[in-house]
Amino acid sequence: MYNIIIIGAGVVGAQVARRLARYKLDILVLEKENDVGDGASSANSAIVHSGYDPEPGTLKAKLNVLGNKMYDEICADLDVEMERIGSLTLSNSEEDDKTLQDLLERAKINGVEARLVSKEELKEMEPNITSKARGALFAPSAGIINPFELVVALMENAMDNGVKLHLSEEVKSIEKKDNSYLVKTNKGEYETDYVINCAGLYSDKVSEMVNPKFFTIIPKRGEYYVLDHFDNNYVKHTLFNVPSAKGKGVLVSPTTHYNYLVGPSSEVVDERDDVSTDAETLANVKEKAYDLVDNLRMDKQIRQFAGMRAVSDINHGDFIIEETSHHFINCAGIQSPGLASSPAIALMVDEMIKDKELKEDYNPKRRPLYRLNKLSFADRQKLIKENPLFGHIVCRCEKVSEAEVIDAIRRNCGARTIKGVKKRVRPGFGKCQGGFCEPLILNILAKELNKDKTEITYGKDGSYILIGRTKGE
Ligand SMILES: Cc1cc2nc3c(=O)[nH]c(=O)nc-3n(C[C@H](O)[C@H](O)[C@H](O)COP(=O)(O)OP(=O)(O)OC[C@H]3O[C@@H](n4cnc5c(N)ncnc54)[C@H](O)[C@@H]3O)c2cc1C
Repeated sequence: MYNIIIIGAGVVGAQVARRLARYKLDILVLEKENDVGDGASSANSAIVHSGYDPEPGTLKAKLNVLGNKMYDEICADLDVEMERIGSLTLSNSEEDDKTLQDLLERAKINGVEARLVSKEELKEMEPNITSKARGALFAPSAGIINPFELVVALMENAMDNGVKLHLSEEVKSIEKKDNSYLVKTNKGEYETDYVINCAGLYSDKVSEMVNPKFFTIIPKRGEYYVLDHFDNNYVKHTLFNVPSAKGKGVLVSPTTHYNYLVGPSSEVVDERDDVSTDAETLANVKEKAYDLVDNLRMDKQIRQFAGMRAVSDINHGDFIIEETSHHFINCAGIQSPGLASSPAIALMVDEMIKDKELKEDYNPKRRPLYRLNKLSFADRQKLIKENPLFGHIVCRCEKVSEAEVIDAIRRNCGARTIKGVKKRVRPGFGKCQGGFCEPLILNILAKELNKDKTEITYGKDGSYILIGRTKGE
């Protein structure tokens, strides 16, 4: 019997798991994919939004502003990369000027620091800004975060504090008993006092396992280009178009590794899991990005990807966070700014759980990563002396050593696939997109997991890379 079962290990499920790990509770997280954070939580703009944009009075506004403030401590405790680079929302027309005035008012009501900057100041802040720009709204508390590392770190720390994680285990149905729930999966059945639904795109389906239907998730896809890291000063802030009824518009933003993201689009689609990209949509994204920077460096693009927003069809798409049946808590319809809001969502869930007692030995800190490429030459030499595998670079683009890959596999919530290693320590994120490092990572995974090389997958279950020998024995 568990006290709590959390369904879904995206950023929301992982934040809730870590938040509740401080109490004397038996907690199980069930995730249908073979790794944590494989849904929207790893295919987004990676912005810790400041919170000037959501409509005042909504859950989105309240939780975004609070969540943003909570990130410094979380990232320090968990050794997660985040930088408060600030955001600039650009005006390119008289109409945009009016929208910026409205947004400034909104920022005041939401309690977010923001100010208007002139065309001249903007040019000084961002030398590559479009010549169309008339000014901007500057929100200094906006940040960029490594979203892959965040989910892994949250879950690793939750597990260090006793939370159990079952991967490749999909919740199929939930039976309400007298004083508990029986959660049935493709692998077994578990009794629990509380169920917390953090199932993202499928949060409506999971809710309907217990509650009458009261909302539907509308999948809204966002497509991006990724540019290589080529110049840390190309764009220094997150640059936004003015938001419209369709969403926040397109952005150009550095990532924590000084790649640049260009996107996303915003289109309602039929299939919840269809994260394909298409040339026409991406061409539109590129057009809109020219409203942000003049010399868009499309010659530096190394990848395209898409993420799927889980938009609810009620309350104008606000988050649904409530105990909809006795001890059944929905965290549903968590579209943008869900990443920024997730620490505050977890806090809200914490306040809904009754009769809990703090653990004496709860440890909020995660053992830091090695991050060889950020160390001085002397510090690298020291590590290599201790363990020569730090001197064996397996990913030349991102400068990742074999020892770091092994560490990413051996930790709690460790990598089990090539994509899992990529998300944790970055081999495959560079210019060659895994062309050179993938076979090396496959070998390390096979050795560490004591598996045959043909059993190693790229990502999803069944995505095998090798099928057999073509030469030799
Ligand atoms: C294009 C795009 C851009 C965005 N940009 C930003 C941004 O810059 N800043 C920001 O704050 N927010 C942003 N967001 C929003 C943010 O990414 C999401 O709000 C957040 O990731 C949602 O997290 P989640 O845990 O609810 O969902 P997910 O990450 O999708 O996790 C849900 C998990 O539940 C699992 N699951 C589903 N059904 C079951 C089941 N039956 N049994 C077991 N497991 C199940 C899934 O496999 C999945 O892993 C963006 C989103 C998109 C798509």
